[in-house]
Amino acid sequence: EDLVADDLGDEQTGIITAHFGQQVLVESPDGPNGKGKQLRRCHFRATLEQLVVGDRVIWQSPQSEGLGVVVAIDPRDNVLKRPDPYGNLKPVAANVDQMLVVFAPLPTPSSTLLDRYLVAAELSGIPATLVLNKADLIDEELRPFIDDMKAMYERLGYPVLELSAHDPAGLTPLHEALKGKTCVFVGQSGVGKSSLVNAVLPDAELDVGDLSANSGLGQHTTVTARLFHLPTGGELIDSPGIREFGLWHISEEELLHGYRELSELAGYCKFRNCSHRNEPGCAFLDAADSGAISEERLANFFQIADTLDEEGRDRYQ
Ligand code: GDP
Ligand code: ZN
Repeated sequence: EDLVADDLGDEQTGIITAHFGQQVLVESPDGPNGKGKQLRRCHFRATLEQLVVGDRVIWQSPQSEGLGVVVAIDPRDNVLKRPDPYGNLKPVAANVDQMLVVFAPLPTPSSTLLDRYLVAAELSGIPATLVLNKADLIDEELRPFIDDMKAMYERLGYPVLELSAHDPAGLTPLHEALKGKTCVFVGQSGVGKSSLVNAVLPDAELDVGDLSANSGLGQHTTVTARLFHLPTGGELIDSPGIREFGLWHISEEELLHGYRELSELAGYCKFRNCSHRNEPGCAFLDAADSGAISEERLANFFQIADTLDEEGRDRYQ
């Protein structure tokens, strides 16, 4: 690819909106003759680090029709990573402004699982918002359990949006939360992520056939992740891999930093090497006893901590 470098035009800015094996789709704010946006299929210099959807880049267009070349990546605000089949963490999306963690009355919500997503968001430096979908399924019997859960997270500063993907009229809070930001939906299978993506994106955006036509890509090209524009402003980065984003290869120390309230207490225990399990003068245990922090969150922290090593070994060896 570098052989054609002499033919390349001026440097332009752009954002990666799709990724296919050895090529990416780059969108530039100004199209030819200052008209609208321009989508261009590009190669990338082999010396660049792995490009991902959401990356802001510098690219050069070819003089004639053909592939452009990405020549540089802007520093990333943050990056989501997932393990590849060999267990190595690989970036899958960059520059995400908000992680929407979806849960629902069905499958039965687990605060341990929600905590895992929130910790992953905290450690990636991405603000998280909880989305309680399938509100139509919350009956009187379930309501107190759901409200306690909402309150626990709201108290920590995580917004909770209660809505139903099946009720377009009730989606206003979600549209507001998405506005002007680059977001991802994550969450357990079956909570309604696909339904929410379909509810907020116009059909045209989801049409991969259209994408292929515009970019000159074949119909059967595998797209790993895509960046979609929302009609209300803002972007959505989506792929099956991103939806399953989770906690990978972290230590107990890192886990602790993913718990906002615990990281604030770190260093205040009586013993410097406190395990926070049973020592006297433990700031965590005292705070849970006095109600200053949630016992449930602390129990989740222990539960997750106890599985960290095991997971690393079992899943990726
Ligand atoms: P995903 O696995 O997280 O992508 O979940 P899906 O979007 O595939 O939804 C799983 C199931 O939940 C499907 O049968 C949806 O029709 C259903 N579902 C999604 N949103 C709602 C909702 O707001 N209310 C109800 N009652 N069902 C929903
Ligand atoms: Zn302690």
